[in-house]
Amino acid sequence: MQTKKLEQLLNQWLSPEIISDYCPNGLQLDSEKTIEKVVTGVSATQALIDSAIALKADAILVHHGYFWKSEPAQIVGMKYQRLKKLIKNDISLFAYHLPLDVHPEFGNNVQLAKLFELEVIDPVEGIKPKGILMQAETKSATALADFASLVERKLARKPLVISGGDFLINKVAICTGGGQSFIEHALAAGVDLFITGEVSEQTVHVATEMGIHFIAAGHHATERYGIKALGEYLAANTDIQVEFVDIDNPA
Ligand SMILES: [Zn+2]
Repeated sequence: MQTKKLEQLLNQWLSPEIISDYCPNGLQLDSEKTIEKVVTGVSATQALIDSAIALKADAILVHHGYFWKSEPAQIVGMKYQRLKKLIKNDISLFAYHLPLDVHPEFGNNVQLAKLFELEVIDPVEGIKPKGILMQAETKSATALADFASLVERKLARKPLVISGGDFLINKVAICTGGGQSFIEHALAAGVDLFITGEVSEQTVHVATEMGIHFIAAGHHATERYGIKALGEYLAANTDIQVEFVDIDNPA
């Protein structure tokens, strides 16, 4: 498949045009080489590029690509090395950031809720972009310690767990990645537990003083599942071969 054609297809599925984001979504680097094999991963790091080269991929598809609004525009250092390797090896780069967090099917939030066996998964109303904070229900009232061990088992990583008090969990809110500032919105939505990737110092105070359980399960660990699901959908619906490569990151 041609690079532009693949971008068109991914855009059709993810509708990046309806979301304002901090980076360009879609085709970020175009080698114009026909795509037969795609490597998916969370972040377009040097290690992922090396894996893509080893696997003879024609393109990389990630959640965290390049050209963030907050970063210097100069192509130097780490950025130069990454781009140089992609260009030298004729590998195209596709990235979808917020459109992949919020998507009702392959979104990071929805995929994580499913991984944690939650039900009735819906966007929290009134928060933009729609789906950036999802709410869902546990099958039955669950103790925090039991939910925390499910999270640890599913993500193969020990989460940070803060108790908001002595109550069971029926309703959960999720914002994957660096979503700790959404704890106030989770609280307003009336959930018992808020799960995100990262924690800030004040997140702990909000949890303990306002009475909401909190789990920080890792930025990388909570964002593996959207790109993986998108890659599986791509493989199932085209003749492109797709391989997910997990480059572990403790953060
Ligand atoms: Zn992220």
